[in-house]
Amino acid sequence: MKMSKLFVQTLREFPNDAEAMSHKLLIRAGFIKKLANGIYTYMPLAQRVLTKISNIVRQEMNASGAQELLMPFVQPAEIWQKSNRWQAYGKELLRVKDRHDIDMCLSPTHEEVITQTVSETINSYKQLPINLYQIQTKFRDEIRPRFGLLRGREFIMKDAYSFHTTQEDLEREYEVMGKTYTRIFQRCGLETKAVQSDSGAIGGKVSHEYMVLVDTMVGENNVFYCESCDYSANSNHAISILPIQQTDGGFDKEETIDTPNIKTIEDLSKFLNINPNCILKAVAYIADSKPVLAMIRGDKDIEETKLLNALNALEIRPMENEEIEKYLNAPAGFIGYRNVDKTKVTLLFDESAKGMKNFVMGANEKDKHIVGINWGANFEDDINFVDIAIVKEGEFCPICNKPLKITRGIEVGNIFQLGTKYSEPMKALYTDEQGQLKPYIMGCYGIGVSRTMAAAVEKYHDDFGIIWPKEIAPYHVDIVPVNIEDEAQKKVANEIYEKLNALGIEVVLDDRLDRAGVKFKDADLIGFPIRITVGKTINEGLVEFKQRKDNDIIKLTPDDAIKKCQEILLN
Ligand code: ATP
Ligand code: MG
Repeated sequence: MKMSKLFVQTLREFPNDAEAMSHKLLIRAGFIKKLANGIYTYMPLAQRVLTKISNIVRQEMNASGAQELLMPFVQPAEIWQKSNRWQAYGKELLRVKDRHDIDMCLSPTHEEVITQTVSETINSYKQLPINLYQIQTKFRDEIRPRFGLLRGREFIMKDAYSFHTTQEDLEREYEVMGKTYTRIFQRCGLETKAVQSDSGAIGGKVSHEYMVLVDTMVGENNVFYCESCDYSANSNHAISILPIQQTDGGFDKEETIDTPNIKTIEDLSKFLNINPNCILKAVAYIADSKPVLAMIRGDKDIEETKLLNALNALEIRPMENEEIEKYLNAPAGFIGYRNVDKTKVTLLFDESAKGMKNFVMGANEKDKHIVGINWGANFEDDINFVDIAIVKEGEFCPICNKPLKITRGIEVGNIFQLGTKYSEPMKALYTDEQGQLKPYIMGCYGIGVSRTMAAAVEKYHDDFGIIWPKEIAPYHVDIVPVNIEDEAQKKVANEIYEKLNALGIEVVLDDRLDRAGVKFKDADLIGFPIRITVGKTINEGLVEFKQRKDNDIIKLTPDDAIKKCQEILLN
């Protein structure tokens, strides 16, 4: 490819509406162009990277026995009604009506389509198991599209779905997919960590996310992991052993006391001179339009995904102050669980509160708290504790009791054991050996293809631009003649270009009339793994050879430079 012909425009400056480095760099280096919020055109450079990632995905999925198909992008509401997700999916599902006033949607995912397709095609256990995948555009009307391709509204996903007759066979395939994923990301030049996670809207019980670990907020997930064993989990799913703490408030009898205008855990602990972990905190929510009161030890916080799961709810938000007064008959800051009407308000207690003694809590009365409470002291206190807390740094591994570490991660893929979550409601059945009809046992496996490209940029860049891993670089080599009007330079540059092309090496010849400095800047910004500069040293029969990942420039004959390209790229 001649640079003068390449459909690319690099920018002098970073776009000012971008936060993530991958977003800034992909725009500035001319890989993507924004069309609307969270919607981008993949320019030729990006398309080449995406094709490479997709090909790696294809090769590895095929090698693991999966088959590729391609499902429709526009889906009828009908199948979503069958799976009970037409309402449940929420606003991320972009619903549209066709000209006949029939409800349709843009595909955010394809569990419904594949389940229906397989159930119409496969009847017998003899045809199972099967694993089918596609690489396709998805649309999700994300509440907060951000970070460019990392969280777009339109994005490219590889989604695979497997169908089994037994849970054991699903587990076998789940493991195969796990290994396949690690290989796929490795081949893209990315180390990933498989972490346990919550299954969210897709449903099912067991799931893992493949995280590229980063140390910035661009990694939208908090990941807890243990260095002594291989425990690791997304914070929405992580559990921990709490440090042993003194959680006795020391009050020798239960009484209601005045706490004028003392509303926060911090103020209350100062006022009473006790640790926050001797205060029972009340956090009020509205879950699927019903009031919920979650009680948790004062030093801990609620993990809303866990709370959502404990309630089996779809949507949750904190209560407004007026709602607190309405449902709990007291102002915020003085809420406790006593005197709450349990027929109207769902009460939950976090496990962290279990060991508390002689503790303090709001009295459900303005400017009053109760001190010296003990579980079981009141017949109403017969309580079922559940885990709805977020893990904190300094807590211990649930497997081996060593300190847990925390980092941030970009989720590039995930795998789920779905079970019969879709096949049952959709009545997707096969005939088993005894001639009985059974729902398929399913798994599903996603990879964010466009997100993986952005994750690679997050991981591999410097102050000058992108440093593509060679496996997914848009082109391998950039040849820069310093002065394109110098006949000798032009000739050698052209010869190297032809020879590399003939070897199947993907090469760009920067034949533009611009100054060498401009071309070097673009070479670094775009991130070609290798740059060959043809300048004055050509008089001595030498060219300059440089790899993007380091700054060493070596002088080689053109033939040696070509050999070196082969060595580096074929390894
Ligand atoms: P997230 O928690 O990041 O929203 P998800 O759990 O909704 O992801 P899935 O529905 O399982 O993701 O989709 C499979 C893969 O698609 C994800 O692992 C991720 O790599 C990618 N993906 C999901 N949402 C987006 C998005 N808005 N933009 C780009 N890629 C995405
Ligand atoms: Mg999502």
